[in-house]
Amino acid sequence: MENCLFCKIINGEIPSRTIYEDEMVKVFMDINPSTNGHLLVVPKKHIVNILDMDKETYIYMFNLIKEKLYPLLKEKLNCEGLTIAQNNELGQEVKHFHIHLIPRYQNDCGDFKYDKSLLIDLDEVEKKLAN
Ligand code: 5GP
Ligand code: ZN
Repeated sequence: MENCLFCKIINGEIPSRTIYEDEMVKVFMDINPSTNGHLLVVPKKHIVNILDMDKETYIYMFNLIKEKLYPLLKEKLNCEGLTIAQNNELGQEVKHFHIHLIPRYQNDCGDFKYDKSLLIDLDEVEKKLAN
């Protein structure tokens, strides 16, 4: 896709610190990492967000994370946990689907900070979501 930053990284127009690549995905280091080893798992197809994601690609990426990438991060960086994050629409800076792999370390203070003053009653939310 023209003018897509991650398509340009995938086709090599823009350099990246690539950790793994195959016919389906490219995995490279986030330029502004939250913790050491913060990776982005990116499908080679231009998929915008989860709403146009296909099952095959999704399963492929999660299997790769489980079988290869998390074990790699544990072995090489000695992380003690992994936070998997994926933004859609609001909060998504790059409009080409990507999964954040954020290795976790003791005392990394990596908690997400949401504005809790916006919270409404749990009962009300449950009622809205129940079908
Ligand atoms: P989002 O907010 O879309 O979920 O995350 C986009 C991520 O892409 C951010 O964490 C940001 O640091 C990363 N990023 C933005 N531009 C570049 C770039 O040119 N190269 C790399 N490797 N990462 C980038
Ligand atoms: Zn793209």
